[in-house]
Amino acid sequence: MSEPLESDPSLLVVVLDVNASSWAKSPLTVGNALQQMVIFINAYLALKSENGLAVLACNRRECRCLYPPSRASPAIERDIRVYEQFRVVDARVLAGVQAMLSGAEDIVGDPNKGIEECQTPMSQALSKALCHIHRVSESTSAKVWPRILVLSAADDSPREYIALMNTIFAAQRMGVLIDICKVFGRDSVFLQQAAEITGGNYLKVDTAGHESMLQTLMFTCLADHYTREILVSPTKEMIDFRATCFCHKRVVDIGYVCSVCLSIFCQVAPICSTCQTKFSFRIVRADSAQINGNLKGSPRSGAATVAMSTLSLA
Ligand SMILES: [Zn+2]
Ligand SMILES: [Zn+2]
Repeated sequence: MSEPLESDPSLLVVVLDVNASSWAKSPLTVGNALQQMVIFINAYLALKSENGLAVLACNRRECRCLYPPSRASPAIERDIRVYEQFRVVDARVLAGVQAMLSGAEDIVGDPNKGIEECQTPMSQALSKALCHIHRVSESTSAKVWPRILVLSAADDSPREYIALMNTIFAAQRMGVLIDICKVFGRDSVFLQQAAEITGGNYLKVDTAGHESMLQTLMFTCLADHYTREILVSPTKEMIDFRATCFCHKRVVDIGYVCSVCLSIFCQVAPICSTCQTKFSFRIVRADSAQINGNLKGSPRSGAATVAMSTLSLA
């Protein structure tokens, strides 16, 4: 892949998590977060006139493209006091999020809401973002450097582990950086992995402690590919690389890996539920010294190494 030049334009896809249930618990209101995000987007557009932009918003039920608007979208009134591109983006994003939030009010009022209310299908949004990036890259002859910025307030959804990991590896293959800005709640294991694998930044903003989301975004996520090679990115803390089992969608310390399709399971099973391969129960006596050596050599894939040596193919 060629090296980024200072003059190369960027393509930024902003993914906004507007799940009303998770924002309801956040010390930072969704309106306030959105205002800061719009300022960040304006700053990004002002950096270079060729910079491309797309904004997606997703909640528990749907994922909408707010910008660029579809042809059927109603025109926005002109205002000579505001720079035309800023005005169009701001109006589309604010109106789009407002429409999604008002449509989700009935869900928030439901007293029987469960844990999954606070989860957002992020894989859907990231897939859409990658499709948009692919389409734009194919339609232009100039080199464009793509990246995705995710504003997340929701918890991880273990059910979408497989879909999300597939999206993350697709992004890595396409050379798309994924920056994550997590404003509330526990750290997201999946999104941490997304940032680490694609070379982006994972930022946890302490909004309860009056840390400024806008300031964090400006200092870390505004820089393009060229500038990032010069800047020192924020120190990466310990990242949890544990996998989630395909059977119960639980994070596992030690798993069993199908030697054919590499699906991960938390228990030994006679048949792989993903590829239907039958295993024999002939347990290979693993040399404990070898296992220890493997664990020391590659801590990230330690669990998988143990598992592959205990299951043998029929
Ligand atoms: Zn399981
Ligand atoms: Zn399998």
